[in-house]
Amino acid sequence: MPYSLSIDRRWCKKCGLCVRYCPKNVYDADPLGAPVIARAQDCVGCIQCEARCPDFALTVENTPEKHDGA
Ligand code: SF4
Ligand code: SF4
Repeated sequence: MPYSLSIDRRWCKKCGLCVRYCPKNVYDADPLGAPVIARAQDCVGCIQCEARCPDFALTVENTPEKHDGA
C-alpha cells in the first residue's frame, strides 16, 4: 500500500466528512458514524480526507504532495 492512513479516535467526532468526500470510497462508517478504513488499497493519496477533517484526526502519509519519507 503506497499511502498510510491513520485515524486518531480521541479526536474524531464522527462527523462523517471523510467518509463522504473520499473520491475512492476508502472509508466505511461504523454504526456510530466513525470512519473505518475499509479499502486502504484504493487510496490515491489525494489528502481530501485529511484536509476536510475539522478535528485533525486523520493523517495521510507517503503522499507525493507531502514528500513524506522521501
Ligand atoms: S487520501 Fe484521498 S483517496 Fe485516500 S482515503 Fe483520503 S480522501 Fe480517500
Ligand atoms: S472528518 Fe475527521 S472528525 Fe469527521 S468523521 Fe472523519 S476523522 Fe472523524
